[in-house]
Amino acid sequence: MRRTEREMTDRAFMEQVLRDAGELYLAMNAEGAPYVLPVNFVFFEGGIWFHCATEGRKLDLLRADPRVAFTAAVDIAVEGTTTRYRSVCGTGLAEVVTDPQSKNEALKALAARFQAPCVFPVSEQKFAATCVIRIAIESLTGKYSRRGEGKRPMPHYER
Ligand SMILES: Cc1cc2nc3c(=O)[nH]c(=O)nc-3n(C[C@H](O)[C@H](O)[C@H](O)COP(=O)(O)OP(=O)(O)OC[C@H]3O[C@@H](n4cnc5c(N)ncnc54)[C@H](O)[C@@H]3O)c2cc1C
Repeated sequence: MRRTEREMTDRAFMEQVLRDAGELYLAMNAEGAPYVLPVNFVFFEGGIWFHCATEGRKLDLLRADPRVAFTAAVDIAVEGTTTRYRSVCGTGLAEVVTDPQSKNEALKALAARFQAPCVFPVSEQKFAATCVIRIAIESLTGKYSRRGEGKRPMPHYER
């Protein structure tokens, strides 16, 4: 990272960004060119989970090539020419979750994360019409851009 004073190597920092972020920008391999989309997600059991329809370009691409890259940012504040934020950037492998129990747990975690008024168990029809994707994180980096950095040592990140 060029701005080494902003690099956060603490895994707890990175995981907190994933817990706090609502959207993830997910990049897929579209036969030589990247295809990037925003999705809502939950960081759950060490992985990134989101739900989607059972068809579409994203799903076709993930089935053809599960390698993904992603980024998420929180506490974004533009101050003049400087932007403050906490962010992560990573890579991973995406898989369609087929185990019904895991899929149900992920849907519950998503509903809780976004305070969705869902009643569990969801109907069989709704369950079948929903696809759940899990991204196993392979690499993750963290960056913290904040006021006063560089002038003094960065204190340990605390929430
Ligand atoms: C904040 C936010 C959160 C979202 N959360 C989710 C989520 O949790 N799950 C989910 O499945 N989807 C979510 N979406 C929608 C998502 O970004 C895609 O639009 C959707 O998943 C369909 O993708 P697809 O590849 O199946 O598109 P298709 O319906 O197959 O369409 C493919 C074509 O449409 C264009 N397209 C697709 N999506 C977009 C887009 N968002 N903006 C502009 N053009 C687009 C592509 O360029 C492509 O050419 C979210 C969108 C936003 C903005």
